[in-house]
Amino acid sequence: MSGPATPAPGLHSPVAPILRVRNLRKSYGPVRAVDGISFAVEAGTVFSLLGPNGAGKTTTVEILEGLRVPDAGEIELFGERVARVGPAQKARLGVLLQEAAFEPYLRVREVLVLFAAFYPRHRPPEELLDRVGLREKARALVRTLSGGQKRRLALAVALLNDPELLFLDEPTTGLDPQARRHTWDLLLELRREGKTVFLTTHYMEEAEALSDWVCIMDHGRILAEGSPRDLVGRFGPTTFVEFDLPPASFPALAARFPGQARQDGERGLLQVQDLARDLARLLSWAEEEGLALRNLLVRQPNLEDVFLALTGRRLRE
Ligand code: ATP
Repeated sequence: MSGPATPAPGLHSPVAPILRVRNLRKSYGPVRAVDGISFAVEAGTVFSLLGPNGAGKTTTVEILEGLRVPDAGEIELFGERVARVGPAQKARLGVLLQEAAFEPYLRVREVLVLFAAFYPRHRPPEELLDRVGLREKARALVRTLSGGQKRRLALAVALLNDPELLFLDEPTTGLDPQARRHTWDLLLELRREGKTVFLTTHYMEEAEALSDWVCIMDHGRILAEGSPRDLVGRFGPTTFVEFDLPPASFPALAARFPGQARQDGERGLLQVQDLARDLARLLSWAEEEGLALRNLLVRQPNLEDVFLALTGRRLRE
């Protein structure tokens, strides 16, 4: 007779997070940059801290990378409780800082060889140049690289020690759309290989496209967290209708659609449940008012809407 059925792996034992913080705090004088945040990052996932400029994202990652000492809070990294992140943990981390600068008169490959010397074991420079799409620039001087190419070189340096956990602070800022896509593909490939990626960004499309889990942060606090799908799912079966609207016409729109209308600069926005009915009502209202409703757009809610609903502000203001 066989024994009791073995539970599927992971079903009853919660997967241990690769990183967990509790009540993390850091102030600069009177500024509470990080004001008591807690979260956990599961291994093999892409985790994003999403927030506007000054939210406290960089301060948080710099603490987790061992570059800053927190005022208070607990950090558990690679299953071990640490007072601060030290050399033993750093050897297993990869870090892409917001502003990475390399010696301008070194060649691209030389930069990788130089940084590789810091590690007892490292990936081959050629492999990394291929991964970040810089192979044909291997002999180019750093000073001749574009901003986006420098960013990709910094990413190759971050991958040199084959890190288990990779911190990327705004990895695609300054990249053109093609280079951004290439970086996204690379991050998803790293995740498929079992790496964990910790991303900070203020591009909500980036967080939405890549993340398994998103923490939305503002003024040093976490306002909401969840998978992108769960976060936008909070709106329920809602559709947004957007169109050009002179601000002077907004009060009339709000009067016709009480509780559903929002003004966003020169755009009007309606949150609707019954699209066919409300679109028809909107079109007849516009006709009465003599408005053209240029650039009309019907779309599903996104993380920007979640942030706006939580704070009354846009992420990129
Ligand atoms: P960004 O998206 O602009 O990089 P962020 O979310 O990364 O912003 P932080 O750089 O962590 O935010 O900054 C959080 C707050 O702490 C801001 O008000 C910032 O001005 C302040 N701050 C950050 N670093 C310092 C510092 N070294 N000294 C004083 N204040 C600082």
